[in-house]
Amino acid sequence: IKANFSVVQDEFEHFNGLITVISDVTEQEKVEQERREFVSNVSHELRTPLTTMRSYLEALTEGAWKDESIAPQFLEVTQNETERMIRLVNDLLQLSKMDHKEKAMYKERVNIVPFFHHIIDRFEMNKLETIGIDRKIPRESIFIWLDKDKITQVVDNIISNAIKYSPEGGNITFQVIKEKQRVRISISDQGLGIEREKLDKIFDRFYRVDKARSRELGGTGLGLAISKEIIDAHHGHIWASSKEGQGTTIFFTLPLTTRKRGGEK
Ligand code: ADP
Repeated sequence: IKANFSVVQDEFEHFNGLITVISDVTEQEKVEQERREFVSNVSHELRTPLTTMRSYLEALTEGAWKDESIAPQFLEVTQNETERMIRLVNDLLQLSKMDHKEKAMYKERVNIVPFFHHIIDRFEMNKLETIGIDRKIPRESIFIWLDKDKITQVVDNIISNAIKYSPEGGNITFQVIKEKQRVRISISDQGLGIEREKLDKIFDRFYRVDKARSRELGGTGLGLAISKEIIDAHHGHIWASSKEGQGTTIFFTLPLTTRKRGGEK
């Protein structure tokens, strides 16, 4: 809290009173501090792939390009780093759009039962050989107002994490529970888990429990921060629970469509 005192005098410089302005600057300072931290994080995240690329390109220029056994490998590294930067910049752009309230959600009334099955099918087709996804999804139709692309992105991100941070052969459970006014979705894995003190932080921008590991697995540290923004924009909640060494569960909720929207019959 900051207090400004001003002495009020009349034209003969007689003391007339005192004006006190007390303003709460702590919130303002916190925002400023967060902004500075964010800029510093972004710079750091971009510098890492750039410096890696520079040294590999230098080596190539200095003659490695002639060596058929190394050159393709070096080029692959620079390509991977470029991909990482593109992913990072795309994630940043998305966050920035959401910060500017350009939320651009295209919500429609969706039966989430076939919708979620479809997302999981896609995963099983593409990526999984050793990891199975158990589905605990009700048979009845459940309708929710949601942006299909955005919620797909959230589920993709959580399932990808479950796979990334799980041992081979670990099981993943995707559960949907219909509650009174909302549905609760949970995705559980049998991976390495997250310490209790770190559970809330994983939704912060750039927070990663193990930076090196996340980077190796292609992570940007922004996936869950974006997921949180998307779930907020759907008036839901997102949180995590975990037992170290035993696995992690990410939960999110979405409000049920109760009332018909204005203009709809
Ligand atoms: P990243 O791109 O690093 O995966 P996220 O925002 O998706 O970024 O996740 C942030 C961090 O949360 C990860 O780096 C990881 O440390 C942790 N995390 C997320 N999901 C899991 C999980 N299922 N098991 C263990 N740790 C996880």
